Amino acid sequence: MLVGENIQRIHKEIGPEVSLVVVSKFRSISEIQSAYEAGQKIFAENRVQALLERRENLPADIQWHLIGHLQTNKVRAIAGFIDMIQSVDTLKLLAVINSEAAKVGRVIDCLLQIHVAEEETKFGFDKDEWIQLLKSGSLKNYPNVRLRGIMGMATHTDDQSKVAGEFQTLKKLFDEGKEILNSKDFDVLSMGMSGDYKLAVECGSTMVRVGSAVFEP
Ligand SMILES: *Cc1c(COP(=O)(O)O)cnc(C)c1O
Repeated sequence: MLVGENIQRIHKEIGPEVSLVVVSKFRSISEIQSAYEAGQKIFAENRVQALLERRENLPADIQWHLIGHLQTNKVRAIAGFIDMIQSVDTLKLLAVINSEAAKVGRVIDCLLQIHVAEEETKFGFDKDEWIQLLKSGSLKNYPNVRLRGIMGMATHTDDQSKVAGEFQTLKKLFDEGKEILNSKDFDVLSMGMSGDYKLAVECGSTMVRVGSAVFEP
């Protein structure tokens, strides 16, 4: 089975220390099912509505991550089950996740999305905002959020040295977070997609988010 072979190959390439999150957006239920049957348990969607629909039609032991921009009024719909929200891009959103998690008696794993790429449309905190936030101490005010790390994307370009530079920046920002927060929970650096996950792992990624390289030949 092609999907299973792709998953095995990617695991070999990234090594046992790096988590593989399979991005299932735009894929059919049967495609996702075949990845699941190949042993994959962590999947990610970028839209709440699609996530809810897929979850309903797939095995209950799948862990779901959200990787797309999340509106505050949609948090409630996922608060009861979501395994990780990787795309926290404002403090307001973090506060809403915290209060919705409290209502359902959960602590939700979150990553803050950091914007380092050239594209202007991407969501996230920029470098300076992230450092300010770390130094302010305010990230400790959300008891129902477990801040696990940061997520970022590199610029979509063939220029490998540019992409590597952006991954190195993310790694530096992750290390600063680790040092300032001094929390053992802060252990996830989510970076790397189909086109750049090998480079991302070389630059220190602990979690890659791969879609097309899993589902396409
Ligand atoms: C779509 C998406 C991915 C996966 O992209 P591929 O190029 O298909 O691997 C990873 N991260 C985010 C945030 C995405 O939106």
